[in-house]
Amino acid sequence: MGPGPSDVHPRVLTAMARPTIGHLDPAFIAMMEEIKALLQYAFQTSNALTIPISAPGSAGMEACFVNLIEPGEKVVVCMNGVFGERMKENIERARGVPVMVEDTWGTPVDPNKLEDALRAHRDARIAAFVQAETSTGVQSDARKLAEIAHQHDCLTIVDTVTSLGGSPLKVDEWGLDAVYSGSQKCLSCTPGLSPVTFNDRAVEKIKQRKTKVQSWFLDLNLVMGYWGSGKRVYHHTAPINLLYGLHEALAMLQEEGLENSWARHQHQHLALRSGIEAMGLSFLVHESARLPQLNAVVVPEGVDEAVLRSRLLNEYNLEIGAGLGSLAGKIVRIGLMGYGANMKNVMYCLEALEAVLADMRAPIQTGVAMNAAQNAAVLN
Ligand SMILES: *Cc1c(COP(=O)(O)O)cnc(C)c1O
Repeated sequence: MGPGPSDVHPRVLTAMARPTIGHLDPAFIAMMEEIKALLQYAFQTSNALTIPISAPGSAGMEACFVNLIEPGEKVVVCMNGVFGERMKENIERARGVPVMVEDTWGTPVDPNKLEDALRAHRDARIAAFVQAETSTGVQSDARKLAEIAHQHDCLTIVDTVTSLGGSPLKVDEWGLDAVYSGSQKCLSCTPGLSPVTFNDRAVEKIKQRKTKVQSWFLDLNLVMGYWGSGKRVYHHTAPINLLYGLHEALAMLQEEGLENSWARHQHQHLALRSGIEAMGLSFLVHESARLPQLNAVVVPEGVDEAVLRSRLLNEYNLEIGAGLGSLAGKIVRIGLMGYGANMKNVMYCLEALEAVLADMRAPIQTGVAMNAAQNAAVLN
C-alpha cells in the first residue's frame, strides 16, 4: 500500500508467464493493436499515437519533453512536488528553458499563477504540469490548466502516472496534448511500461522539428516505425511478457469499466479516510484536492515515522510510503491503487496502523477506526 508499484493482480502475473514469442509475430502484432485500443479507452482518447513506451513512467516523461522541445524553447512548468521538479531537469537536458510556477507542496497548482507566467512569457509554446502528484497526494485541475495553456497558444505536457485508471482523466475532452503514464500504479501491472498519447497538434509539432530528437531510443518518429499501423520494422525488441501483462491489466480495466474503477478508488479512499480521522489523525491535503489513490497522512507528534513504517513492514508485512523532500518524516503515504484499492486492504491498514501507533504511545483514539471505515463504506 505504498505509492507504487501497487499489488499486481494474479491474472496479470499469469498472463506474463505465457511463452515469449517474437516481437514481429503476427499474433503479437494483433495484441499490440489491442493494447493501443485499450489504452485509448483508458486515456479516453481517439489519438492514433497512443502506445506504451518500453520503459517506466520516467521514460514516458522524457519522451514527451525530448520530442516536443527544441533547443532554446521556453517551457512553463508547474511545480508542486517531486515530479514537477523532474520535469524541469528534463527540459534543461533537452536544452529548453524552464520557467517555473511554484506552489507549496501539499497544495494543487494555482491556475492563476500559470496564467500570470504565460502572460509574462508570451514566447512560451509549452506548459507542463502533473495531474496527480504522488509525492504529496494532491490532485490539480488538469482541465482548467489545459484551458489556460491553450488560451495562450501553448501545448500541454501532462503527467498522469498516478491518475490513469484511478481518477477522472479525459484526454480528448480536456484537450490534453502530450500525456504520459505508468503501468504500476492504478493499472496494477508490473513496473516498466509507460503508456503515452499525443494528439494531432503535438504530432504536428514533432513533425515540424528543425533539429533531430536528442534521444535515439525515445524518438517517436522511429518508435512509430514499430508501433504504427503500417509495415512494421525492428526498432528495439519489445518487452513481450510485460506487454502480455499490460494487455491483461487493461482488459480488466475495461471489464470493470473506467468510471467504476474511478468510483471504487474514491469509495475505498472515503472508507480509509473515515478510519484515519476517527483515530484522530489528519490528512496533509485539503479535502478539495485529495487524491483517492494516494493518502498523505500527517505523522502524529513524537512518532518516528521511519520506525512506524519499518514496524508495519516487519510485523504486518504492510508497506506504506515515506514523505519526500521537505515532507520527509512529517507524512506517510498510503496507496490505494488499482487492485490494491479494496476494503480488505483498507481494514488491514487501519488495524495495523492502530496497533503499532498505540504501541508507540501515539495520542490516537483506539477501537473506533474500523467501525468508522465500515460505516463510511456502507454510506458511500
Ligand atoms: C511514479 C511516478 C513517476 C515515475 O514513474 P516511474 O515508473 O517510477 O519511472 C512519474 N510521475 C508521477 C506522478 C509518478 O507517480
